[in-house]
Amino acid sequence: MSRKSKTIAPVSPPPRLVAAERRRAVEVYLGEAALVSLLVSSAEVYKKECYGTLLGYRTDNRILVEHAIPYQSAQRKHSEVCLGARSRRIIDEVLGGLPKFKVLGEYHSHPMFGERRANIRLGALDTIDMNGDDVQIIVAINDKKRRQPWRIRTDAAMSGTYANYHFSIGAYVYPGRAKRGNPILAPLFCPYAFGLLGPGSPNGRRG
Ligand SMILES: [Zn+2]
Repeated sequence: MSRKSKTIAPVSPPPRLVAAERRRAVEVYLGEAALVSLLVSSAEVYKKECYGTLLGYRTDNRILVEHAIPYQSAQRKHSEVCLGARSRRIIDEVLGGLPKFKVLGEYHSHPMFGERRANIRLGALDTIDMNGDDVQIIVAINDKKRRQPWRIRTDAAMSGTYANYHFSIGAYVYPGRAKRGNPILAPLFCPYAFGLLGPGSPNGRRG
């Protein structure tokens, strides 16, 4: 992987996830630690982009994301984030030797900028270095207007509010694990979100 930059500039309409594609797509499970890291990473550098790697396990039809680790040396802007070649090389060396977790892909955020609210739509450069079997998580982070319970959206992404922010999280994969066409939003599961994040969720009291 040699990803260099990301941008939020939309190049095409959001991928329409037809039923047949969704059935073929792997399911993505987001663990507690990974979710917390995604939220903290996105909020810490708001309104710039965060960028990091995803670690966990993969089976034939499931991706289990256990950790999301931010790239500390990423150079951040509001609509682009880059990682230098030296940092990339070091990170790949270290992560490649992990005995337990596999590198599953990467994540970055799309922050609100000015009055323009962010979404999880893939940008022009977002798929350039995405491998056929990667998962790519995009976190859209916006100012919170009002509390909203966490929910699974009809496009298979998740959204809800926490602290002062509204988050949408989407997990993109290539159907069939081959780099053809556009990635689609995989069904995303994160039961932990409903327990932690806010009133309106089944057992949440904070938000
Ligand atoms: Zn992007």
